[in-house]
Amino acid sequence: MQSSFNDDIYLPLQQAFQSGLSRDLNWRKTQLKQLQKLVTDNQKAINQALFNDLGKPVHENWLTESGFVLTDIKHTLRSLKKWSKPRAVSTPLVLQPGSSYILPEPKGVVLVIGAWNYPLQLCLSPVIAALAAGNMVVLKPSELASHTSALLAELLPKYLDNHAIKVVEGAAEQTSELLELPFDHIFYTGGERVGKIVMKAAAEHLTPVTLELGGKSPCIISSDCDMTTTAKRIVWNKWVNAGQTCVAPDYLLVEEAATEPLIDAIKTQLKAFYGDAAIDNKDYCRIINQTHLNRLTQYLTGQTVIYGGDVNEAGYMSPTLVLNPPEESPLMQEEIFGPILPIIIVSNTQQAIDFINRRPKPLALYMYSNNKGDVKKVITHTSSGSVCINDGMVFMANHHLPFGGVGTSGMGNYHGQYGFDTFSHLKSVMHRSFKFDVALRYAPYSKLKLWL
Ligand code: NAD
Repeated sequence: MQSSFNDDIYLPLQQAFQSGLSRDLNWRKTQLKQLQKLVTDNQKAINQALFNDLGKPVHENWLTESGFVLTDIKHTLRSLKKWSKPRAVSTPLVLQPGSSYILPEPKGVVLVIGAWNYPLQLCLSPVIAALAAGNMVVLKPSELASHTSALLAELLPKYLDNHAIKVVEGAAEQTSELLELPFDHIFYTGGERVGKIVMKAAAEHLTPVTLELGGKSPCIISSDCDMTTTAKRIVWNKWVNAGQTCVAPDYLLVEEAATEPLIDAIKTQLKAFYGDAAIDNKDYCRIINQTHLNRLTQYLTGQTVIYGGDVNEAGYMSPTLVLNPPEESPLMQEEIFGPILPIIIVSNTQQAIDFINRRPKPLALYMYSNNKGDVKKVITHTSSGSVCINDGMVFMANHHLPFGGVGTSGMGNYHGQYGFDTFSHLKSVMHRSFKFDVALRYAPYSKLKLWL
């Protein structure tokens, strides 16, 4: 049976793509400028939707959602001409006279499946890359962030060419139907379990996939670092969005001598950021739903909670510190994706490296240290999607760095030109001349006096 999205969603986009509409760079720029206008015109509605979904403060929206998307569009508009140009490469002497280049060409109709934790950014950022590269897009936002999903479904058709993008709202059932279609690329952000479902479905059509997944991102702290700045940065990176961030530090590996000063400094910064009761503070986010809140509170069973652990009826959970959780407990086996921060004491950097290498490859790895030798050792002896030294997820704001996982934390990447290339087929082109047609390769071979 054919997918119910074939006739109204997929085919019109495919026809528009085949008409050559999106080959025109000006058409692509118009779509990006319209997206820019959508975000700026509707800032209030966006803030409201994000507040309804996650209790997000406006300042956080600006830093991690709307502002991020607008910077992304600006950078893409500025770079589009350069990225889409043929990329000249050299041609070996034996193939002269001739010239060679790589031509980025759009893939076709692509599917973008978004996650709920940054429901604007994680939908629009891949869409920006896909449109810039000249593709038509089906966007499936997460049903868990239902207000942002509904707003995107309402606004995108008003601002963008309806031949460029179509939004399908819904959950597993709708996503499964979409996955039956022969897309030219699937870009999925979310958990490992659904990532496998996406990849299996894609294999049916040999559709390439980008999987932006998660995992437990470790954070190593040496005793020689500036504890106040370290604590401030850890607190922001962990508790922005109440820890519901794929690149949040999942747990700390702290050198023994640093443990007490660090815990004190973190508590001081938590109070400075959110006061005595973060769950009542308007600068602190809510947990997405009751199921996730239950999952998080269950992680605390049998653990040594040294700070926080409170929840309220409105669905908030306070910043929570857990000391030395057992390695085999669910808290240390699953991605936390919430405001609980386990602190594990290690005796040295090598012990931290061994701890990390016993686990699946994380999406991000952080280290706070002034010891260049130790930093180098950690970078070269561990594997992760990204590394940031002496800070947290700010590395994502650098468009010149690819963003993506490795192993179970994902495959493929995006941001800046990496996103453009993800949604492009990099076509090899060699242009030869009719001059100097060397006969060496032609049959009959017996006539050739080769040295073989
Ligand atoms: P999820 O994987 O459950 O859902 C993501 C999307 O998949 C949604 O659009 C949903 O509708 C769809 N979906 C759900 N069940 C499905 C099914 N059975 N068949 C087909 N589609 C289905 O999202 P989640 O697990 O709650 O998201 C959290 C995870 O996402 C965490 O692991 C986090 O680290 C990761 N994440 C990664 C990034 C990144 O950029 N790498 C960003 C955000 C979140």
